[in-house]
Order: sequence, then structure tokens, then C-alpha cells
Amino acid sequence: MAIKFARRMKGLKGSEIRELLKLTENPEVISFAGGLPAPELFPIEEMKKISTLVLEESGAAALQYSTTEGFPALREHIADRMNSKNKTNITKDDILITNGSQQGLDFAGKVFLDEDDVVLCESPSYLGALNAFKAYSPKFIEVPTDQHGMKMDELEKILETTDRVKMIYVIPDFQNPTGRTWPMERRQKFMEIINKFEIPVIEDNPYGELRFEGENLPSLKSMDMKGLVVFLGSFSKIFCPGYRIGWTCAPKEILSKFVFVKQGADLQASSISQREVSKFMDIYDLDAHVEKLKEVYSRRRDLMLDTMAKELPEGLEYTHPEGGLFTWVELPSHLNAKVIMQDCLKNNVAYVPGGSFFPNGGKENCFRLNYSTMTDERIVEGITRLGAVLKQHMEV
Ligand code: PMP
Repeated sequence: MAIKFARRMKGLKGSEIRELLKLTENPEVISFAGGLPAPELFPIEEMKKISTLVLEESGAAALQYSTTEGFPALREHIADRMNSKNKTNITKDDILITNGSQQGLDFAGKVFLDEDDVVLCESPSYLGALNAFKAYSPKFIEVPTDQHGMKMDELEKILETTDRVKMIYVIPDFQNPTGRTWPMERRQKFMEIINKFEIPVIEDNPYGELRFEGENLPSLKSMDMKGLVVFLGSFSKIFCPGYRIGWTCAPKEILSKFVFVKQGADLQASSISQREVSKFMDIYDLDAHVEKLKEVYSRRRDLMLDTMAKELPEGLEYTHPEGGLFTWVELPSHLNAKVIMQDCLKNNVAYVPGGSFFPNGGKENCFRLNYSTMTDERIVEGITRLGAVLKQHMEV
């Protein structure tokens, strides 16, 4: 029997990377492939108290349906936070609570993309976003990047020659997968360009608060005078991903479309999750929690980069992220990270081969390393094993 699926399903395949990554679940393997927050830092004791408190104080409401836009007190907390951290000037009415920021990515595709429309993104970019957009059958144009993120002259060239661009997807802060951050001049130039071409922008920012050093930079959203920027935020990396609470902050005309598709998708985010996250912010200090995360992650980043400097062979390049969870390694162009990964697995160490972060393919000499979820001993041992495998490949 041949079941007839929608045309859009043709482009959606389980990736070979997923198969490869299944092998990293063996506990013998030191895997730098994940992108998870450190579980030992979750505030479990605090959340035990919070969940009791929420049920005692507002049990019926917590277990009932609620509005699509989200729990007002949580949206207030988010608006205050964005105004202080991201330099915006918004209110709770500019916020829709979503099921993780991942749902905001799917909604962006649904709201903006028709088949064969063009999405511009950084090259490389976040695989989960590329997959979410792929369900709407767009074409991708990758904008070249350097160590400071998207190259603005290249962006301008592409926009001057292509007229089907419907949306630009960017991660200006501690990007996944590269860990790179756009400096202020690039942000200003970017806004100049998009104001000229008037194209909606999805600014995905789950990592911005995890800055270990250097100066906090304003969001694109805060520089948006024309109502073009949709900001996606998340509690996953600064708190806990299990609640699945993220948000979309967008100009009214765009936000109303997101609210409409949220109704169709799942009516609302979980009432009880929203109330628990909000209550945590009422009685505990989320900033203090984020400080703790930054302390641990920055130490792990330092240890990983120091060990890489000692153990990896010469002739490769990697990023020195000022925050976030990842570093990105580029090998000499003739090497293939997917092939080398087979040898890494034999030596019980793993990373994510970089090819799938490029929507149009063709770049295989790179990989992503995560440092947030690993003990010091495993970081040192894992990078030492990785260095030994890479040396073998680079000597041939
Ligand atoms: N955007 C980026 C760049 C991410 O790295 C992730 C998670 N890995 C997400 C969005 C989605 O996160 P969540 O749905 O947990 O908010």
C-alpha cells in the first residue's frame, strides 16, 4: 500500500547524523555532541517547594485551560527582563508564551513561508530551525560568515539580487553551532540593511544571557524602528528546558498571527508550567541562578579551550566563545568530519559533524563541541582522545 503523504514531507528525512549520534549514548563514549544544560544545576529543591506553593495558592487555575497569549504575570516578568537584558522597550502585551522557542521557529515558518520562498540564514545555522522551516518547503540562501558572524556586505549583495526573500533567520548571540557573537557595528549595519529592504527578521536568542566576559550588546529587537524583528526567547538554557517555556516578542501585527497559529497548534502553553516558572521568579533570584550557571560553564569552556590548545594538532581553527554552550572547529578543507567521527567513536569520543548545519550542504570539514554538560575529568580525557584521532588524520 502506498500511503500518500503531503508533498512537504518529501524534503523531511531523518538525518544520518541522528543515527551516528545514537552511538554516543553508550556511557563509555565521552560525547561533546549534546547541547544540554548541566542537570546538576537545576533548582530541584526550589521547584519542589514551588510546585506545592502553586497548587496550594492557585491549584484550580494551574490545572485549568488558560489564555493563548500566556499567564500575565509570567509575561510581565519576561517584559521586565527583556527591557533590562535586551535593552528593549516592551510590555507584556508584546509577548506570546510558546512551548519552547522551538515552537516560535515553527510558527515563523507557518506565518511567513510559502513553498519556494527564500529564507536567508547564517552559514552555518541551527539545525533545529532549518528543520522547522523545511516543513514549509522554502529555499535557503546561506549568507557567508566570519569570526564576527554574518557578513553584512554579502547580505546586502544577496538582497540586491534576489526578490523572493521572505524572512531572515539569525542568532546574533553565542550562535549555535559556532559560539560566535555579532559585534555592535554589525548589528547596526544589519538593521540599516533590513530597514532598506523591509524583510522580517527572526532573532533567535536562547543563549544571550550566558555571557561569561565582554560587554553585553543590545538585541536587534531593541534597534528595530520599523516593526520587522521577531525576538524568540527561552527559559531552557537559563533555567530548565523541561518546562518547555519560551516566548515570542513581536510587533503587534505579526504577534497576532503567531497567536492565531498557537491557537490552532495547541491552544496554549501548559498553565502549570507557566505558573511555576513565574512563581520561581517571584520568590527566588533568577539572576543569581544565571550567575551560577555562568560560573560553571565559563570554567568548563576555559578548561576545554586550554586542553584543545595542548592536545589538538596544529593547522585547525576553532572559536573562542564569550558565552553560550559551543565551540566550532574547522579542519583543513580536504578532511571530512563525518568520516573522522567513525574513528572517534572507536576511541569513545564524539562531536556533531558540521555538514548538517549548512542547509545546502557541501561543507564537511567542521564540527561542533559542547562544554556545558561534562565533568572536568571527562573534558580533559575526551579532548585528549579527540586530539589523538585528529593527529592521525592530519598527518596523512
Ligand atoms: N534556538 C536555538 C539556537 C537553540 O540552540 C535551541 C535549543 N537547542 C532552540 C532555539 C530551542 O530551544 P527551546 O525550544 O528549548 O527553547
